[in-house]
Amino acid sequence: MTLPTTAEAVIVGGGVMGCSILYNLAERGLTDTLLLERDVLASGSTNRSQAILRMHYSNEVTARMAWDSLRIFRDFEDIVGSPSGYVRTGYFIIVESGDRRALEENVAMQRAIGIDANVVGVEDVREIAPMMEPQGDEVFAYEPQSGYADPYSVTTGYARRAREMGARVRTESPVTGIEVTGGRVTAVLTQDGRVETHIAVVATGPWSRAFLADVGVSVPLDTVRHQVVMLRRPQDIVPEHPIMGDVVNDFSARPDAGNLTLVGVGEQESVGPDDYNQGVDMPDVERTFQSIVKRMPGMSQALFRGGWSGLFTITPDWHPVLDKVAGIEGLYLAVGFSGHGFKLSPMIGVVMSELITQGQASSVDISMLNLNRFETGELLESRYSMQVLA
Ligand SMILES: Cc1cc2nc3c(=O)[nH]c(=O)nc-3n(C[C@H](O)[C@H](O)[C@H](O)COP(=O)(O)OP(=O)(O)OC[C@H]3O[C@@H](n4cnc5c(N)ncnc54)[C@H](O)[C@@H]3O)c2cc1C
Repeated sequence: MTLPTTAEAVIVGGGVMGCSILYNLAERGLTDTLLLERDVLASGSTNRSQAILRMHYSNEVTARMAWDSLRIFRDFEDIVGSPSGYVRTGYFIIVESGDRRALEENVAMQRAIGIDANVVGVEDVREIAPMMEPQGDEVFAYEPQSGYADPYSVTTGYARRAREMGARVRTESPVTGIEVTGGRVTAVLTQDGRVETHIAVVATGPWSRAFLADVGVSVPLDTVRHQVVMLRRPQDIVPEHPIMGDVVNDFSARPDAGNLTLVGVGEQESVGPDDYNQGVDMPDVERTFQSIVKRMPGMSQALFRGGWSGLFTITPDWHPVLDKVAGIEGLYLAVGFSGHGFKLSPMIGVVMSELITQGQASSVDISMLNLNRFETGELLESRYSMQVLA
């Protein structure tokens, strides 16, 4: 298929972020757009996501976006025209007593903005999730509406609907650079030619640091490996369970179809985006197994069913950069989602499309997610050591 020679806006990267932005631009009437994906849609971090949707955060901006996104995931079929795969399971966050205040403050912040979340006691835990074993002096919060969705369905659903509205999508089309002339974007460059445009949106996931460096934009991004261990539950003993963010035992776990439990562990190993072990490490599998059995003793009968690894693209404060680049008119960034981007993706499309078409986001104030914060030191802070709970 020949490449268009012009577009009003070009989006680089066909993960969930690029496709959500493409769809939301079309919703706002900007359909002379082109999304370029070097491989196939959702082939980056999106397809490896554990896809947990929870609202527990230390900062209002992300809690708000997660909550608004949850409602879009829930009503996705009505809004976008295809299913998101949303399954409501409920979500527990579990911390040690030393983190009680952090948890209580986060839940108070959530409740103040209308999120359905509560601090709960051991008796409530036993009633809601009898398969879970509270240990010692722990503190729990519960979100009844949280769950998970299907990243592939969401990404391709957004792309399909955007196309129906007139947007164009080209896969197997790597972008080789962005042309900047006189301080503004003039074209996006590919192996197959040049696409003239005044708006380029970079949503290139783990490849963003190198890609942006070539354009002369420095963003402090690192890529770290996160493993997902897949266990088959003993159906008669643990037929189901809610999602858990277990800070005490350092894992997150969600159920999946086919009686599976997906357990996410580790985010310390910094690796290159094209050269890392995409499987799981057996010592980590053993540790994970012990941790999950501590939390759900019935899982001692679970079977190891394999697993995979993917990349978190992290920033120094584990929050994304949603901004336009000062000094390069027309260049926009949606990068650095730090292991928790999927749950935000519907609202990332909304706020980025507002930023592009109106000059600023109006649905949620994203000003603190600016690029300049790494220079000024005005970083967002987590109340926890588990930084993915940013
Ligand atoms: C193992 C794992 C578990 C996770 N669990 C959760 C979770 O439970 N909940 C949650 O909310 N989030 C989770 N995340 C995070 C979430 O998946 C990501 O934040 C999100 O998918 C990022 O989407 P993206 O579109 O920014 O990046 P990607 O999906 O990586 O998309 C970027 C795309 O850009 C393309 N690209 C790169 N360079 C170019 C180029 N030069 N030209 C054209 N195309 C290019 C790539 O091929 C890729 O398709 C998890 C991530 C991983 C890896």
